Amino acid sequence: MARNGAIGFPVRGDMKILPLPLVFSVCLAVAQERPPAETSILHVTVINVATGAELPDQTVRIQGNRIASIAATQATDSALPGAVDAHGAYLIPGLWDMHVHVHDKDELPLYVANGVTGVRVMSGDKDTAALRKELAKQAPSPEIYLASGIVDGGPPVWPGSLVVKKPADARRTVDEIKASGADFVKVYSRIPRDAYFALADEAKQQHIPFEGHVPDDVTAQEASSAGQRSMEHLSGIALACSSRQESLMGDLHRAEFFRHRMVIQAEGYQSLEQAKCQALFAEFRSNDTWQVPTLTVLRLWGRLDDSRFLSDSRLAYIDKKFRDRWEERLQPQLRRWTNQEFQLARGIFAMDERVVGGMFRAGVPMMAGTDAMNPYCFPGFSLHDELALLVESGLTPLAALQTATINPAKFLGRTAELGTVESGRIADLVLLAADPLADIRNTAQIQAVWLKGKYFDKAALVDLLEKVKAATKR
Ligand SMILES: [Zn+2]
Repeated sequence: MARNGAIGFPVRGDMKILPLPLVFSVCLAVAQERPPAETSILHVTVINVATGAELPDQTVRIQGNRIASIAATQATDSALPGAVDAHGAYLIPGLWDMHVHVHDKDELPLYVANGVTGVRVMSGDKDTAALRKELAKQAPSPEIYLASGIVDGGPPVWPGSLVVKKPADARRTVDEIKASGADFVKVYSRIPRDAYFALADEAKQQHIPFEGHVPDDVTAQEASSAGQRSMEHLSGIALACSSRQESLMGDLHRAEFFRHRMVIQAEGYQSLEQAKCQALFAEFRSNDTWQVPTLTVLRLWGRLDDSRFLSDSRLAYIDKKFRDRWEERLQPQLRRWTNQEFQLARGIFAMDERVVGGMFRAGVPMMAGTDAMNPYCFPGFSLHDELALLVESGLTPLAALQTATINPAKFLGRTAELGTVESGRIADLVLLAADPLADIRNTAQIQAVWLKGKYFDKAALVDLLEKVKAATKR
């Protein structure tokens, strides 16, 4: 693939800037947000992620931050400004990872380098405006759909959470979150039952969605009918499918350690009733309750006795202080778990995958999410792992691709702008060397990325990765 050398990239204003002293030109470059140079992708196969149709030999013209046109490639197209010959390559919409955490804004370019042009950040801050401002300092960055601080009961799982104990706390907290400008309320495991329903009611009145864990005190059925927009990590599902739902929920309430929670979940899966599961899935479908299974993080626990898994080469892109924090968090498992416990974790994950396959066949709306910046969940890279795990669970490659493209666009109510390769859409695009519908792992064969019209060729993507890697060694 080669860029048309004769035309190259016209940079507006060069003629005016060149004669000026260097310092002044640098100031100008910062002060003016230039529109991205025009590019045209020639001879590319455009993938229609809505239908799975593949349209070969197309020219996709990108002007400003938008896709200007898509048409069969003509002989004269090689003279178009910024022409890129993409013969043999495939074009898909920019990918979204719908469950990430950002520990440091320096991680953000890792998403772009991996073709992830949008993320849903699942833990925000009390001061939403300050966090947005901080994240916006990083370029390039994926687009961010931002959570409130984590809303939890007392004592919260994570320090710094917004703690609600009574219904009145919950209502006040929702009002504050709405006023702060967060995109959604992030709900967590320990919210008490009556506070949760008050939160749900207040969120409805304030027109702000609530998304996150199904609290331990609430069933997945109840959370779905209360209007929870998304459920993460299959939380509440094993129990909701179990013939022993009530007694296991009581146990969960008393479970103090992660290991106990794991045993309860295994018991839930062992007592799974097909009919109960199907009724639950039908409810998700009719209430438009989205599932974000985050298989990447769910797989982790059963892999911690695997030295290859623990020496993943992508650790090189993670800052030392966060790597240390990961290791610290995993100490109880790494030090004390026996073979039996790792096997239990693997058994649960095998069931998680079966449940995901069942949800797909039942038509439950689903999105890809990794839980990035949890241990061994790598910003950007892991989204490709997640897509492969979804296929392993029973989704078709097309359905898996949808979970990171058109489905997030639907979820966000932005199908007119995002999620497909169509004229008029925002030019968030990923160019692949091989067909992702033939093998989903080909989503990682990235040749180029367009981020709101800005072109990153292979060299630019490698450069982004190398910069992050170098920064971890500082
Ligand atoms: Zn998370």
